[in-house]
Amino acid sequence: MVSESTPNLLGAVLRQLDATADMIKLSPDIHEILKHPKRVLQVACPVKMDNGTVRVFTGYRVQHQDARGPYKGGIRYHPEVSLDEVTALAMLMTWKCAVVDIPYGGAKGGVICNPDKLSLGEKERVTRRYTSMISELIGPYEDVPAPDMATDPQTMAWIMDTYSQMKGHLIPEVVTGKPIDVGGSEGRVEATARGLTFCLHEAMKLRGYKSDGATVAIQGLGNVGGNSASLLQDMGYRIIALSDSKSGIHNPKGIDAQRALKYKAEKGILKGFPGTEEISNEELLTTECDVLVPAAMENQITRANAGSVKAKIVIEGANGPTTPEGNSIMENNGILVVPDILANAGGVVVSYLEWVQNLHREHWKAEEVNDRLKERMVRSFYDVLEVSKKYGVDMRNGANALAVGRVASALKLLGVWP
Ligand code: NAD
Repeated sequence: MVSESTPNLLGAVLRQLDATADMIKLSPDIHEILKHPKRVLQVACPVKMDNGTVRVFTGYRVQHQDARGPYKGGIRYHPEVSLDEVTALAMLMTWKCAVVDIPYGGAKGGVICNPDKLSLGEKERVTRRYTSMISELIGPYEDVPAPDMATDPQTMAWIMDTYSQMKGHLIPEVVTGKPIDVGGSEGRVEATARGLTFCLHEAMKLRGYKSDGATVAIQGLGNVGGNSASLLQDMGYRIIALSDSKSGIHNPKGIDAQRALKYKAEKGILKGFPGTEEISNEELLTTECDVLVPAAMENQITRANAGSVKAKIVIEGANGPTTPEGNSIMENNGILVVPDILANAGGVVVSYLEWVQNLHREHWKAEEVNDRLKERMVRSFYDVLEVSKKYGVDMRNGANALAVGRVASALKLLGVWP
């Protein structure tokens, strides 16, 4: 077993699976099946760079489990992508889809690259070559990719086009998170953040806190963190700290999140936003606040800093931001931790709604999408709470018990072939 001295996400995810298996008395056969991804593909993508040279980018697609439906999971572009990380994220997707009870399994993809150093043309060529090389695995009823770190609706449009060109006809339902003009869903871009706000609302009610004026610190200002900041501000929360990979800002009296986002878009950096002082990422995580939203990378709250977290509620926008040891320390300190597989599931819920719309060649109004998202997130929040109470455990362990139990039930019914 991997210890926290090597805080690798796969180690943490496998430790969590072992703990869940013990708790729900999972059959050893099914436990063994769930420890392994069903399929792993590694590809070497040669790409013509703008300066005329050819670079070879390594990419992965990992399919963990499809007992409950086609594989589903995002594609990440980051210099630190690794097979271990993609495998762990694929496993988290299996649990996430099961927690919110959508008919999907779990997968993940990634390409090792520095997206900040790629021109738009280079990014398009990386995406198209990677898509062609994983095309044997993906498909509307096989495996449906979506955005993750540094991939966006434009990236999804390139994936859809490449796959469609290879098959000879337009297949929007092969990928979700597309721009609206090519079959994307209303509300998909901000779905993860919106889902997070629905969960936070229930968590605040549970603890008897009022959202009006409650202080929030957010790590990461991309799709999840940026949209969360904007939506939470509109709901009356007071945003007091924000950060991205380059810098962080703090003002206990409040930061206008929408203005800060605009400032970052114009200047490329948060530092220097008027009325704020600079803060490090480490300081942001342990700053005085009511709600902490880690929305950047994994392994941010560990045994080393969990004891210094002062938030009352930690709601995980990122995947795997807290190690199991970090989680236990915060729970022992009375902090309510709303786990990633529940808190950030809004993206995959609306991805599912996008896929359903595509399969039926329909386009629903934003109101209909957001209502369905809210209903699913609130129901899932209380499903998790009920299982947590049943086993006398925190929400992370409850969410895992619910998810692994649902996947195990499907695996048992399907049996082992031959
Ligand atoms: P993104 O690329 O849009 O944004 C990532 C943000 O994190 C950027 O602001 C970046 O500057 C910041 N960042 C990167 N490294 C950092 C560091 N070391 N410290 C502080 N900030 C750092 O990515 P995203 O889509 O918002 O994804 C963020 C997290 O949320 C990831 O863990 C991702 O897996 C998870 N997630 C995303 C979605 C989605 O729909 N996009 C859904 C579920 C979960």
